[in-house]
Amino acid sequence: MAKLKEYRKKRTFISTPEPKSKNVTPSSKNLPRFCIQKHAASHLHYDFRLEYKGVMLSWAIPKGPSLNPSQKHLAIQVEDHPYEYRNFEGVIPEGNYGAGTVMIWDEGHYTISEASNRKDVEKRMEKSLENGKIEIELFGTKLKGKFDLIKLKNDDKGTSWLFFKKKDQYANAEEDVTQKDYSARSQRTLAEIAQGKKKEKFKKLKIKIQK
Ligand code: MN
Repeated sequence: MAKLKEYRKKRTFISTPEPKSKNVTPSSKNLPRFCIQKHAASHLHYDFRLEYKGVMLSWAIPKGPSLNPSQKHLAIQVEDHPYEYRNFEGVIPEGNYGAGTVMIWDEGHYTISEASNRKDVEKRMEKSLENGKIEIELFGTKLKGKFDLIKLKNDDKGTSWLFFKKKDQYANAEEDVTQKDYSARSQRTLAEIAQGKKKEKFKKLKIKIQK
C-alpha cells in the first residue's frame, strides 16, 4: 500500500469519483495492462500508465503520443495510481486535484523484450526502471508496436522522461494519432463524457447513424 500513499494524499474520496487506492495482485498469466487517459484538466495532457506490481506507473505527457519516431515528447513521471484507475472515465469535480474530464483514450497490454507473461515483464521492468530506459511494445487499440521511455539525466527532480515511437511497421510520420479523439472504451468524446452521456445510449445512437 505504501506505493499509493501520494495518490491518496492528493485526493478526497468523498468528493471525487476516482477509485480509492488499493494494491491488487492480478492472478492472470496475461501480459500486464497499459492505458492512456486523455485528461482535460487545467492543462490538457495524456496520462500514460503501465501496470507494475499491482499499481499503475504513471507519466503525464502534455503533447500526447506520436507515431513519428522523430517526435520525442516530454513525459513527467507522477505518483503511482491504483490498478483500477485504468477503468476510470468520467469527470473529476471542480475543487478536486486534477479537476476535469478523463477519457480512456487507449488501452491494452504491453510487454518488454518480448516477455510472454506478467512475471517476466515485471523482472524486465525492474531493471528498466533502474536503468532509466523502458523499451516497451504496446498492444492497444490505437497505439501498437515499439515505444521507448527514456529518463532524462541532468534533471533535478528525476521525473522527466522522453516518450517516443521506435521505428517499426506501426511508425507513421504522416498520421496524427491524437486525431482519433474518442474513448477506446465507450467511443465517447470528451464533451460527451463531460455531459455524462450514457455509454449504452451512445452505442445505440452510433448503430442508428451507421444504418
Ligand atoms: Mn492527469
